[in-house]
Amino acid sequence: MERQYDLVIVGAGPAGLSAALYGSRAGLKTLILENGAPGGKLIKTNKISNYPGIKDIEGTQLAMDMFEQATSFQAEYAYGEVNKIDKDKNVYLSDGNVVKGEAIILATGTKERLLNIPGENENLGHGVSFCAVCDGAFFRDKDVVVIGGGNSALEESIYLAGLARSVTIVIRRDVFRAEEHIQRQIEENSKIHIIKKHIPTQILSSEGKVSGIELENVDTHEKQVIECSGIFPYVGQDPNTDCVQDLGVLNERGYVLVDDDRQTKIPGIYAAGDVIDKNLRQVITACNDGAIAAQHAFHKIKGI
Ligand code: NAP
Repeated sequence: MERQYDLVIVGAGPAGLSAALYGSRAGLKTLILENGAPGGKLIKTNKISNYPGIKDIEGTQLAMDMFEQATSFQAEYAYGEVNKIDKDKNVYLSDGNVVKGEAIILATGTKERLLNIPGENENLGHGVSFCAVCDGAFFRDKDVVVIGGGNSALEESIYLAGLARSVTIVIRRDVFRAEEHIQRQIEENSKIHIIKKHIPTQILSSEGKVSGIELENVDTHEKQVIECSGIFPYVGQDPNTDCVQDLGVLNERGYVLVDDDRQTKIPGIYAAGDVIDKNLRQVITACNDGAIAAQHAFHKIKGI
């Protein structure tokens, strides 16, 4: 890793990899920093079926394809945990390295929200999982519970139903947040059961493993226990924006505010993908953001 780049991209999900593709193809000296595996949420997703031109692809495969394409034009890829980005576009890494970019694109995405109930932390990896694709196989022919009614919860429930004996989805209202067509697939799947108007209150365990979950009816406050071996919370996301806390570019929920060029109010600092304040968080919109940010950065750096 050198000290100075044209473009430093933080995060290698679809937004960061698209930015790297556009930046490096345009001839910018580009560095991608990532503190996990490339692909972001793609590698935690079973199937992608709404990326135009590709009818159905495994998330891990699309991630690998994007990574290979993004780095085929000499974009440099490095492991890096970014602690801070300052307004002069210095990027401070946890290992003490500092790199500087003429432009920075923050593409750090979001992290899964916790349930914050007793039993959750201590059972992480012992039945509580935030990644059905990674851990689903441990629950073959077992009973699992999914919490949440958004796209993630329902899509991953369909995946889990292919492995588990039963999948019980628990939602706190009497309606789902997920798209209609996914709801239809849930209704048609005989392995999937739905409990409405309940919230989880406690995760139960026995001999170091999850044994059940306690639910409370939001109207009557009556409690019931569902016996299960696995619990998959999919109750939304929060933005990964700790490294730009001091820049004054965040909204009240911690998402990055950007203009049409995906630039923050600080010239040369951009953001793209799920981490920005927007309505539609999809692979395609993340790629769109990354491409726009990199193209604008190119014009700004080259003065054309
Ligand atoms: P989401 O859409 O925000 O859904 C979160 C779900 O969790 C909602 O049903 C919510 O209930 C519930 N919830 C929140 N806090 C809870 C709590 N404390 N206890 C119980 N339930 C709780 O989150 P997501 O599914 O992770 O999706 C995030 C974004 O990515 C969305 O924009 C989504 O459309 C997108 N996404 C798209 C796709 C796709 O297009 N294929 C796939 C995955 C994700 P309420 O509805 O009552 O608030």
